[in-house]
Amino acid sequence: MLAARITQLLGVSLLLILPSGCAGTKSSLRSDLERQDVRNAERLSAKRQQSPRALPRAPQKPAQAATGLSQKVYRRSEWKARSHNAKKLDVVGGTWEKITVHHSDEVGTLVFNGSFSESAQAVRSIQRHHLDGNGWGDIGYHYLIDARGRIFEGREIRWQGAHAGDSRKNRRNLGVCLLGDFNHGVPTAESRVALRGLLDDLREVHRLPRSKVYLHSDLSNTECPGRHLSAWVRSYRGS
Ligand SMILES: [Zn+2]
Repeated sequence: MLAARITQLLGVSLLLILPSGCAGTKSSLRSDLERQDVRNAERLSAKRQQSPRALPRAPQKPAQAATGLSQKVYRRSEWKARSHNAKKLDVVGGTWEKITVHHSDEVGTLVFNGSFSESAQAVRSIQRHHLDGNGWGDIGYHYLIDARGRIFEGREIRWQGAHAGDSRKNRRNLGVCLLGDFNHGVPTAESRVALRGLLDDLREVHRLPRSKVYLHSDLSNTECPGRHLSAWVRSYRGS
């Protein structure tokens, strides 16, 4: 190390006293110095790699890496979803173009305010209604939110949804449903926080402006998602 340092210093001194016309020698001394610099840089780089603290840390969203969202999403296996029927589903085949908000009252589910198991049961009952009652390939919505602000994964987002009306209305349209009747009740603060977070995330991931967030009633003749939730969505999208 000391020998290298002396050589380096000597190189610099020699370079300083060399006559200006001696380009060949100067450039060979310079390349010696450059080689030394490269070796030093390599040594420093190897040292950095051994010490994790010296490396810049990549931002992490640990638990949610699988969904690409910053919100905790309860996966289908967690609420014990039934399997989908791929023969009755259509692949999205493009980018998502809009998001439509619903309330679950349209499919006759009860309002749930409590535990995970109650909400999971409500989500299962919606799936049963969609699979067995409507004969669809899976639950129609892509995400569902309960009164405690828990977000449940519905239909996987590789599939077109079934929530807005006909296949033209469902085309590249993400469906988000809040559990409850929001013609009569007001969404809880926790569910509003979760809905805002989910809409922000989905808009960021799929590059959608706020104006691409719809009420079900914007697309079909229905009261869904109820006047209280509709007012919230209008305020969110600034309309
Ligand atoms: Zn709806």
